[in-house]
Amino acid sequence: MTKKEAKELLDKLLEKEKAEGLKASDRFDIPPQDMPAQDAVERRSNVNEVATGYTETQARLEAMRCIQCKNAPCIEGCPVRIEIKDFIAEIAKGNYKKALEIIKQNSLLPAVCGRVCPQEVQCQLTCTIGKRNNDPTKAVSIGRLERFVADLDKDNASIPEVASDTGMKVAVIGSGPGGIVAAADARRAGHDVTIFEAFHKTGGVMVYGIPEFRLPKAIVQKEIDVLKKIGVKIKCNFIVGRTRTIDELIKEDGFNAVYIGVGAGLPRFMGIEGESLVGVYSANEYLTRANLMKAYDFGKGADTPIAVSKKVAVIGGGNVTMDSARTAVRLGAEKVYLIYRRSEKEMPARIEEVHHAKEEGIEFHILQSPKRIIGDEKGKVKAIECLRYELGEPDDSGRRRPIPIEGSEFTIDVDTVIVAIGNIANPLIRQTTPELEFNKWGNIVVDENCKTSMEGVYAGGDIVLGAATVILAMGQGRIAAAAINEYLSKNDLGTKD
Ligand SMILES: Cc1cc2nc3c(=O)[nH]c(=O)nc-3n(C[C@H](O)[C@H](O)[C@H](O)COP(=O)(O)OP(=O)(O)OC[C@H]3O[C@@H](n4cnc5c(N)ncnc54)[C@H](O)[C@@H]3O)c2cc1C
Repeated sequence: MTKKEAKELLDKLLEKEKAEGLKASDRFDIPPQDMPAQDAVERRSNVNEVATGYTETQARLEAMRCIQCKNAPCIEGCPVRIEIKDFIAEIAKGNYKKALEIIKQNSLLPAVCGRVCPQEVQCQLTCTIGKRNNDPTKAVSIGRLERFVADLDKDNASIPEVASDTGMKVAVIGSGPGGIVAAADARRAGHDVTIFEAFHKTGGVMVYGIPEFRLPKAIVQKEIDVLKKIGVKIKCNFIVGRTRTIDELIKEDGFNAVYIGVGAGLPRFMGIEGESLVGVYSANEYLTRANLMKAYDFGKGADTPIAVSKKVAVIGGGNVTMDSARTAVRLGAEKVYLIYRRSEKEMPARIEEVHHAKEEGIEFHILQSPKRIIGDEKGKVKAIECLRYELGEPDDSGRRRPIPIEGSEFTIDVDTVIVAIGNIANPLIRQTTPELEFNKWGNIVVDENCKTSMEGVYAGGDIVLGAATVILAMGQGRIAAAAINEYLSKNDLGTKD
């Protein structure tokens, strides 16, 4: 649909709405609005955002597709229960500020969530329009609408109010989405909040993992700036467990409560021959170097530049795999192969990311998996040997089990291998905080209020859930902050020695 056609359709619908109201059938007839995107060839050589955002006409048309179901199944699908149908109704009317206010009652980071939330398996999965079309990608585009109104709030006019000082100190460990939300909510209650962050930059995975072309760093920075404006203190290059332990923060530094939001930053490897060859990276290292350490400068100002790769194999099928493969393209690789041992149907990556990766020329090798990585005489990667797979019966995850086909080995010439098969919890907090209870995967055990086994210590996000999502981390940050505020209000901890 051209811009002119979209405008004509919107005018026609508005006129009809005014005269006689819109019927459900009128709404069903409105075509889903495609997200405008940067040209696929052009974007291979830049890191600018791929999806460029709805125009106002598109946003209103998309919002008008919503039939305002009485039971609003979309809200049930949202982990933080945003009043979706209400904010969409406001967009349809052109009341964008009101729409954003409604979203912000439940979500502090709408510009982030509108971009990276997996809506197709959450709110859009349960959307009546998507069900009618038998396709969650044809549901009302809730995430794109959320992003539209969040992006209009460019100057972030809404700085939250802060209650008067309580004299209580709260430590937030980790500045990912969970930490940001927990810090904001604890500060709003009047507590003296300090975020301790291991890296030299704040934002967690949203900054060092998710690439600029999917989530511009400036958006996350805006949220950090709000935290600073409301008086949250931030200490970077501070590794809790090394610089100070949790026990020291509480007993020596006078913190009355602690939120642990350290994520799941330890990469998993495949345990195959050749994984320590030069040219093998974990996705974490590759993306962190590219995003935070100026690897894209190839030595011009980067302390740890990445060697220029020609042929790259990326192993896995999740969002992290897509991000790594698409980053390799932007860092100048001529060929990028994505190797995944199940079929595309089982891929955990978002449909949109798979689509964008293919558009950018990434070659998908599905039902294949590496057997070993082959090095040259200098210990550098020169090829990867793979096996072909077929799918058997469903396994514990409900997905069909990949079974290697004996004797199906073949090799692909590559100079770089990026292993993107998932992350687990870093053991540092466990090793240095014996009072905390962990489960068998190394995640912190919490109750429904995100309270840990240690007095005054709360936790949330990936360190509790295992590698999960931004919105789930945010949700837990909010629950934990509410519990911390309640805990501090009930206990006269200021008199503790
Ligand atoms: C490449 C990639 C792409 C992803 N894409 C998506 C997506 O599209 N959509 C989505 O919803 N989710 C996505 N995720 C997952 C999502 O980013 C995480 O679920 C989310 O960021 C977890 O938030 P968190 O608050 O638990 O902490 P994190 O974002 O993991 O941040 C934890 C922070 O704690 C710091 N830290 C760690 N240890 C210490 C310590 N000892 N002392 C002090 N600080 C410490 C870390 O440096 C980090 O900054 C992606 C993840 C990755 C890796």
